[in-house]
Amino acid sequence: MNAPHSPQETRSTCPYCGVGCGVIIQTATEPSNEGRKRIIAVKGDPQHPANFGRLCSKGSKLAETANADLVLARATRPLMRTRRSDTVRPVSWSDALGHVADRFADLIQQHGPDSVAFYISGQLLTEDYYVFNKLAKGLIGTNNIDTNSRLCMSSAVSGYKRTLGADAPPCSYEDIEQADCTLIAGSNMAYAHPVAFRRLEAARQANPKHKLIVVDPRQTDTACLADLHLQIQPGTDVMLFNAMLKIMMDEGLLDAPYIHRFTEGFESMVQGLRPYTAALAASVCGVPESDIVMAARWFAQSEKTLSLYCQGLNQATTGTDKNTALIALHLATGHIGRPGCGPFSLTGQPNAMGGREVGGMATLLPAHRELSNPAHRQEVADFWGVTDISETPGASAVELFDRLEKGEIKAVWVACTNPAHSLPNSEKVARALRRAELVVVQDAYLSPATVQFADVVLPATTWGEKEGTVTNSERRISRVRVAATPPGEALHDWHIATEFGRLLEKRLQMRGLADRRRAPALGTLFPWGDPQAVFDEHRASTQGRDLDITGLTYTVLEEQGPQQWPMPEGAIMGKSRLYEEGQFPTRSGKAQFVFAEYTPVAEDADARFPWRLNTTRLRDQWHGGSRTGTLPELFSHEPEPALALNPRDAKRLNLQPNDWVHVKSRRSELLMRVRLDQGLGVNQCNIPMHWGPEYFAGLKGAGGVNALTLDDFDPYSKQPELKHCAVSVRKVKPD
Ligand code: SF4
Repeated sequence: MNAPHSPQETRSTCPYCGVGCGVIIQTATEPSNEGRKRIIAVKGDPQHPANFGRLCSKGSKLAETANADLVLARATRPLMRTRRSDTVRPVSWSDALGHVADRFADLIQQHGPDSVAFYISGQLLTEDYYVFNKLAKGLIGTNNIDTNSRLCMSSAVSGYKRTLGADAPPCSYEDIEQADCTLIAGSNMAYAHPVAFRRLEAARQANPKHKLIVVDPRQTDTACLADLHLQIQPGTDVMLFNAMLKIMMDEGLLDAPYIHRFTEGFESMVQGLRPYTAALAASVCGVPESDIVMAARWFAQSEKTLSLYCQGLNQATTGTDKNTALIALHLATGHIGRPGCGPFSLTGQPNAMGGREVGGMATLLPAHRELSNPAHRQEVADFWGVTDISETPGASAVELFDRLEKGEIKAVWVACTNPAHSLPNSEKVARALRRAELVVVQDAYLSPATVQFADVVLPATTWGEKEGTVTNSERRISRVRVAATPPGEALHDWHIATEFGRLLEKRLQMRGLADRRRAPALGTLFPWGDPQAVFDEHRASTQGRDLDITGLTYTVLEEQGPQQWPMPEGAIMGKSRLYEEGQFPTRSGKAQFVFAEYTPVAEDADARFPWRLNTTRLRDQWHGGSRTGTLPELFSHEPEPALALNPRDAKRLNLQPNDWVHVKSRRSELLMRVRLDQGLGVNQCNIPMHWGPEYFAGLKGAGGVNALTLDDFDPYSKQPELKHCAVSVRKVKPD
């Protein structure tokens, strides 16, 4: 056997969380294996400004997960299922895409463009997202394209837009090192954004006077580092933040000049906050009044205060209000637009932000344009050379599968995500997928639960095999590069969507359904030959917008490394901090105070369902575990899903660790073991979100953890309340 050639090194970006750590991938060429390139090691990139060489437990195992017998679970050829016989057979790419194009054209002809939908992913690269968005909104004429980012960041987005005027996190990771006081709300950063958390730990060591406030119903590893942990009752964040602002007001701790110069709406805030006393908040939130007062004083009196927040605020029916109330604390104290200050939402996925930049959601258009704005629709129609952009609102994630279940949407194309696992009320999602006339699943793996519903499986390349760009939590655009040879016939996501777009365009033209094209003689709407060409079209669409990146080419990224937007033509580098001189992108140029009334969780605990269930993340796992679930060492922290309970509660139920319990919500039920967690509040429990229907199959209630969760969503962000539902818990002896 020939020895592999010496390793080659390729710079890229970690595919997991929104910290967006830079990595260096080492590959070897295998002469004995047709010269294929295989990943042999991954290390942190010391030059990447997000991580400076650090990696967490997930990132440091990227080489192992890329090679962990994944060939068994990889999609390597297009597959088609015959429903009548339930048989699956491999087919050629042209047969698979031709079949789907015929079916899409049939449905569009019979039922109109809104009879089809795309459900895509924050795991996709910006270039992939751009092509899918143009396919749906430019060619087909439907806004039925949404993404799993809806489950992740949309409340943060609507909070920013409502108050600061744009979907633009104003901060940088370097602010973590510069803050004197940090408030972390609804985020177990130590597990979910570990490398950013390491930066916080280092900052605290360097600055012993630094104050850390953590707001979380659980005593997480993050909360254990806090100087002050406000262990609030689930869903009471708005009550807490409003009370903190009232205390600041009453004690004269506000930055009156900042409020006067840079904001609007403070008077209505003053009116609204009247009832929000510290005493009321203490009783509703379940924390000592003195702690709320202390948090308010630390936040306001520190020279530089930074907030970091994530799903605990976002995944709620009041997610937008929670974000709005937190941002009001920054506006009222002037802790924004300066080093070490600002409301900084942590992005869950590696490219949720890139997807929004290209408008790849049901409510958005490219370059942060709004679907609801007629001028924006016309700008995009002109840019793409189509007659118009449909004004009919698209279906957001939960709505999309609702409409699929009702038969209003007939076909869904799922790319790089696993809705049968990750959406709430997942048994309803399964019913919707069963009812659909056509389900297309484009994925690198065959393991996701959604694949079992597919009529057509399209094999895609994955991390290490594809190239493009991603944007992390601090607006930093980084390159993702090809290092390894993809397996079998897998194609890149942008390429699959492009080929399909060209096929469908021809079919629609043949049926006289392509009258949306203003100038058919120009050729296809899908002209690209590589991801760089897609990126160039995307960046041209950003000209004059808040995220203008007309000055950011692949060459600039190559020569200068990752850059933060905006970076317009002529700029020599990206912008690390926004709103330094006010200049908020609102109509008046001023930031907006918007009073948010406290509203309890959508499904409160009651006599039948007395326990409050939270779904949580583990340190070493990522999402549904297509990658991290393949390595035994990543299960050493938590080997299997378990219901975590406070030891006092477990005693009341006569439960010992590893006993079996029946967990039931209004939607479904599950059997699982019990784990004790001192950090949980009384009558609260949690289950990790990483194990889906495939794990629980055979146990009572075959859905995953999201079979229990409810699909009520925030009216502004449409983000569902994945962080709270009511359940009953009963000890059982499994058969
Ligand atoms: Fe990857 Fe996030 Fe870990 Fe960085 S912190 S290595 S981006 S999972």
